[in-house]
Amino acid sequence: MNTVLIIFFALFGAIIGSFLNVVIYRLNTGMSLGGRSKCFSCNTTLGARDLVPVFSFVLARGRCRHCGSKVSWQYITVELLTALLFAGVFAVNSSMLLAAPAQFVVSTVYGLLVMSILVVIMVYDFRHKIIPDMFSYTFATVTFLAMFIGFDSLGEISIAMPSFLSLSTGIILAFPFYLLWLISEGRWMGLGDAKLALGIGWFLGLSLGASAIIFGFWIGAVFSVCLLIVDKYFKKNHHGHSFGMKSEIPFAPFLIAGLLLAYFFGYNIFESVGYLL
Ligand SMILES: [Zn+2]
Repeated sequence: MNTVLIIFFALFGAIIGSFLNVVIYRLNTGMSLGGRSKCFSCNTTLGARDLVPVFSFVLARGRCRHCGSKVSWQYITVELLTALLFAGVFAVNSSMLLAAPAQFVVSTVYGLLVMSILVVIMVYDFRHKIIPDMFSYTFATVTFLAMFIGFDSLGEISIAMPSFLSLSTGIILAFPFYLLWLISEGRWMGLGDAKLALGIGWFLGLSLGASAIIFGFWIGAVFSVCLLIVDKYFKKNHHGHSFGMKSEIPFAPFLIAGLLLAYFFGYNIFESVGYLL
């Protein structure tokens, strides 16, 4: 049964991913979310055949069926990523499916919602090097409110009263980012990363959240070093364009990569360090 459900969640993820693409694209151009999608090149209104997630892109070999112009790789990448994350959310929560159905439904819906917000933040930051406040505050609000959802001994939904530490976690994790932003006057780090850290803290808790952020820095550092090497040895004489050391590299995708490691694999650096000591 689990295999069938994993496939179901992946397909559902691909459909939601296709909707998230619309959100990412239209938010930047000020278009409304309603209305039919059109080809950006020939302006043909796209029909059902053109809008099947993943399959349309593969069948048309990444081109518009009407004018043959190339369709951005962002579309299929976001659809596949969302499919993978949705299947992962089910896998993480599947043990509760029969044992605690109410808890399964709440945790799964919560996980899917958070993943959708994070996909938008990740792709938007990657493309535009900024995290719109609307996205980071939605993430922070959803994760903050979720702390008040609890389950009683029968597995029924109840109201939880989180500890003061839990309520402070987002602020504790956002504070170092805020300081970096303040000291560097926004050169090392955007304030958007601080706002993102709020939600990371409330979503994962203090220990796992701090671990996710440290992982985010490591992944970001490795990536930056690779980029600098490529820059130095391969792009030297190409129209003087170079990747800068600082804010030109979007940071949210790395923080979110750290969060995904923590959420899906429970990867906590503090526990690992504990084993080593
Ligand atoms: Zn076209």
